[in-house]
Order: sequence, then structure tokens, then C-alpha cells
Amino acid sequence: MTAFKNRQWIYTKRPEKLVDNSHYTLKETTIDTSQLKPGQALIKSEYFSIDPYMRIQQSGKDTWEEPHPLNTVQGGAVVGKIMAINDLHSTLEIGDWVLSYPGWQEYAITEVNSLRKLDPSEVPVTTALGILGMPARIAYFGFIEAGKPKKGETLVVSGASGAVGLAVVQIAKIKGCRVIGIAGSDEKTKYLKETLGVDDVINYKKHPSASEMKNELLRVCPDGIDIYYDNVGGYITDAIFELINLNARIIICGQISQYSGGLDTPELGPRFLHKMLYKRATIQGVLARDYNDRMDEMLEEMTPWVKDGLIHYKETIIPGFENLPDALQMLFFGKNMGKLIVKVNH
Ligand code: NAP
Repeated sequence: MTAFKNRQWIYTKRPEKLVDNSHYTLKETTIDTSQLKPGQALIKSEYFSIDPYMRIQQSGKDTWEEPHPLNTVQGGAVVGKIMAINDLHSTLEIGDWVLSYPGWQEYAITEVNSLRKLDPSEVPVTTALGILGMPARIAYFGFIEAGKPKKGETLVVSGASGAVGLAVVQIAKIKGCRVIGIAGSDEKTKYLKETLGVDDVINYKKHPSASEMKNELLRVCPDGIDIYYDNVGGYITDAIFELINLNARIIICGQISQYSGGLDTPELGPRFLHKMLYKRATIQGVLARDYNDRMDEMLEEMTPWVKDGLIHYKETIIPGFENLPDALQMLFFGKNMGKLIVKVNH
């Protein structure tokens, strides 16, 4: 038997507004290999995925599933290593890198059949959390299946420099769209334009109202908007409706501007429905989980793009298990570029 000292971040209090340390308690436990039942593995966490959906699940409101239960380990995806395995039939071995969903704990026991094996000789293992993970899955299927892009069409992407956004803009360039990226700093818009080849950009913080945003959009989209990939909602999205073209497709992937309490502000959407009518536009919500069983399809197309450098990616990696709650809050201040990850210093 081998025992490990374990630390867990327990989610203990629902946030009303921004999430922070006060909504969590750090707990110390031990975990040992004798606890492994047949079909289970003991995983050492190395990289934690930090995602906006964590805040949605904390809201206690009616979403796609029950709110995150209180007094349990904060859920989340993790890239880690197998320390012990109790499964005679598995091809996985001690030392293998895997993607799993044990949440915010340094060690965890998981079901072997829920693990995805990662090959560090092919691409860095952290890509399984971002550019070749769940954010890429919704970027790929959300854009292609709900967006139905045609060559030469104009796409606008909000939250364009984040994990989902930077995948969408690059997939869209590959598919021949004219791409406009909206993000919250000059550093981010410069990266979008100069490194990712986005056609035009808007720093939304310089245009902090729907009317100012509309003027900016008119400047960069003189022929209107055919597809809008929405990661943020709020006034940016309100402004988009003013410019949509005939048969426009509006893809609602995220509404991060509304997650930290903003959901209680009056919903503006219905005021814009007449614009949808005139343009025979469609608006569709998309969820990554609806494409879980098509992960391989996305990986087959996108892995070569990433390996060959056709698609770039960025990761913001914060060191320290103890910094997990602070890292989650960073998302709501735009302190990440690309995928936000916390690395454990074992
Ligand atoms: P991310 O974009 O890497 O990080 C969040 C970014 O949102 C921040 O860096 C910040 O960038 C921006 N932001 C924060 N507050 C904002 C505000 N009030 N207004 C405008 N922008 C704001 O996160 P992600 O994982 O890629 O997720 C992006 C969106 O997609 C989120 O809304 C998320 O919930 C959604 N999502 C949906 C699915 C699904 O299945 N539907 C799956 C994954 C993610 P700036 O500096 O540009 O402000």
C-alpha cells in the first residue's frame, strides 16, 4: 500500500456575485492505493482546467443541470498521471498521462473507463484542456454545425482571445471566412491580428456601450454580419443584431458578462427579435456536452492542424494548487489569454 497526502478544494458557499476564496475551504486528507477497487486508477493531478461553466454551475439557477452541490470537491477536468491501477484488462499503465474529471484535488481515484490517454510525444498534454479539449470541441462543432459557414462570409467572434474564441477564429479562417475578433485589451487584439491572422479586431473596452460598439462594427463589417459566435453576451451582443445580414446565424456559446450576478439585470434580447424576423436569422445555443461522443471526429481534423502549426494556441498557466479559486476569478477580469490552467507544484 502507498499513501499520499492529499489536498482538496471544497466548494462550500454559493457566490452572489464574483466567486473568490471565501466560497471554498481547503481540506487535507490522505488517499492510498488500498482503496482502489477493480476498474479504478489513482491519479496524480498535474494541470487543472479553469472554466467559466464552473461559475454558472454555482449560480443555483436553472441551467443545463443541477447546481454544483455544496460541501463537495469543486468539479473540473484535470490532466494527470496514473500512480496506481487496478484493472487487468486496461492498456493503461502506471506513469501514463490521462485526462480525467476528478475536480480540484491533488490525488483522486477514478474509473479507468472514464480516462482519455494522452500522448506527450504527439502534442503537449495541456492541449487536452484547451485547443484539443472541450473548448475546441464546442468551437469546432458550434461553429461548423450551427454556423454553417460559407467561404467569404463575415464572422464576428466575441471573447475571441479565450480558449474557445481563438479556436473559432482560426477554424473560420481555415474555412475561408472573413473574421472579426472582439477582445478586451490591445495585447489581445494585436495577437489576434498579427499571430492568428484575424482580418479586423475590436477592443471592446474602448467602446463600452451598444451604440459605440455598433459604430465600431459598422466600420469593420461594411457588408454586415453573416455569423456571430457569441461567448460573452451583454451589450456587445445587443449591438450585433443591428448589423445582421439575411439568413444570419447567431451562435450562443457563452454569456460570460452575465455569470457573476448580471443574470438579474433586465434581459434585452426580445427587443431585438424583430431584427431576426426581417433577416430570417436563426439563433442557436450550443453545448459542448452534446458533442461528447464526437470528440474523435474533432481530434482527427484538429490534431494535425495543431501539430503542423496551422492553428496556434495560447495557455495562461498559474502555478500552485492553492491558487485555484483565485485563478477562477481571473476569467472574469480577462486576465487569461487562451486556455487558463493551474499547474500543481508537487
Ligand atoms: P475564456 O474566453 O478563455 O476566458 C474568459 C474570457 O472572457 C476572459 O479572458 C475575458 O476576456 C472575457 N470576459 C470576461 N468578462 C467579460 C465581460 N464582462 N465582457 C466581455 N468579455 C468578458 O473562456 P472560455 O473557456 O474560452 O469560454 C468562453 C465562453 O464560452 C464562456 O462564456 C463560456 O461559458 C463559454 N463556453 C461554453 C461552452 C458550451 O458548451 N456552450 C463550452 C466552453 C465555454 P477579455 O479580456 O476579452 O474580456
